[in-house]
Amino acid sequence: MASIKVHLEKCTGCTLCLKACPFGAIHMADRKAVIDMAKCTLCGSCVAACRFSAIELEKGAAEAKDLSAYKDVWVFCEQKRGAVQSISYELLGEGRKLADKLGVKLCAVLLGGGVADAAHKLGERGADRVYLVDDPALKDYQDDPYTAVLVKLVEEYKPEALLCGATTIGRSLISRVAIKTGAGLTADCTGLDVDVKERLLLQTRPAFGGNIMATIVAPNHRPQMATVRHKVMKEAPVQPGRAAEIVTKVYPPETFASRTRLLDVVAELTETVNLSEADIIVAGGRGMGSKENFAQLGELAKVLGGAVGASRSAVDADWIPYSHQVGQTGKTVVPKLYIACGISGQIQHLIGMQSSKTIVAINRDPDAPIFKVATYGIVGDVNEILPALTREFKRVLNR
Ligand SMILES: Cc1cc2nc3c(=O)[nH]c(=O)nc-3n(C[C@H](O)[C@H](O)[C@H](O)COP(=O)(O)OP(=O)(O)OC[C@H]3O[C@@H](n4cnc5c(N)ncnc54)[C@H](O)[C@@H]3O)c2cc1C
Repeated sequence: MASIKVHLEKCTGCTLCLKACPFGAIHMADRKAVIDMAKCTLCGSCVAACRFSAIELEKGAAEAKDLSAYKDVWVFCEQKRGAVQSISYELLGEGRKLADKLGVKLCAVLLGGGVADAAHKLGERGADRVYLVDDPALKDYQDDPYTAVLVKLVEEYKPEALLCGATTIGRSLISRVAIKTGAGLTADCTGLDVDVKERLLLQTRPAFGGNIMATIVAPNHRPQMATVRHKVMKEAPVQPGRAAEIVTKVYPPETFASRTRLLDVVAELTETVNLSEADIIVAGGRGMGSKENFAQLGELAKVLGGAVGASRSAVDADWIPYSHQVGQTGKTVVPKLYIACGISGQIQHLIGMQSSKTIVAINRDPDAPIFKVATYGIVGDVNEILPALTREFKRVLNR
């Protein structure tokens, strides 16, 4: 385990470290810095701020890795029932750029049961090599076996960066793998790049409630792991006939041991249209006023063949389930048309929808921030405008 130490004989009580600590973990006692380990995250900001080398971050023995032994960019390719998920292609597209800049291979990792054919297709999406573990025990995702296998692969082949989708599966898996391999992990990145000289993955994500974009590096840990949300990056194009080297690994049955038993896999019940995949989204916020009014969004969505989205306020008010929430703590969506009804446009909501091709905002406040990102703005009462729009679309589309 890493630890942090204040060398009292060097500390001058200047308070620079106190000001630098983002977590309020440092206070002064007798003009000496004291670190509250309950709050300290070992981020090292105080070490960098101290002009007297009075604070030292000590690496644990387990973390003293030879970082130069790590190479290649890996993408964990998520599959469901044998079908590679589109998030994997988005990560392969981004991974290709990173690998090219670093001058290393782009490797895909595919775990599943009966997925050998899918593995061969990953070359066409830019992978140079595919690590394939094809075993019936891996047919459906389970935390323990997937973690055990990915940890084994990471320890044997040592990637310098490992990308994974910020999906339910990806988030559950990669945090476990990061802990077990002593890796650095940045969740929910919206931008990735590399510092070629230092061989660092530059991981950009919203921080402090979405008010700033932070670029995070993990200089002392390998692999550098990042999760990226669906639809943030562009899919790797298909290059027909491009082949990847397939490295097939076979592990003994005990590797797949699980503390949980999978009983069944059921389709999601509440979503008729997958929000992340929808071309048209009609979304509502607190301005809809009530659950009954909010339900009217469904009618317009139905007429347009789209899905219903929501701001967090609408979800918190229990007008619609969380699976419909768009934004920083919800889904990222990039539809062709996003109709925002009674949504103010706080940054945490915008993060999830501002890349939509066309944004129509309906709000009675002409100064609402949503109008800054809107392609078309309608100022007025949503409860008058929405029924009128629905009526008109029904008429025009003959539905
Ligand atoms: C860490 C963190 C994460 C967050 N994550 C998310 C997230 O993922 N997604 C998200 O959406 N939010 C998120 N939030 C919350 C976010 O900050 C806002 O509070 C939220 O988006 C506001 O929702 P809203 O626009 O529906 O409500 P409000 O901000 O209350 O806006 C309501 C709008 O409706 C308009 N209005 C009212 N009545 C009418 C009417 N009759 N006709 C037309 N317009 C009307 C008002 O003018 C106003 O602009 C997060 C916040 C934090 C701190």
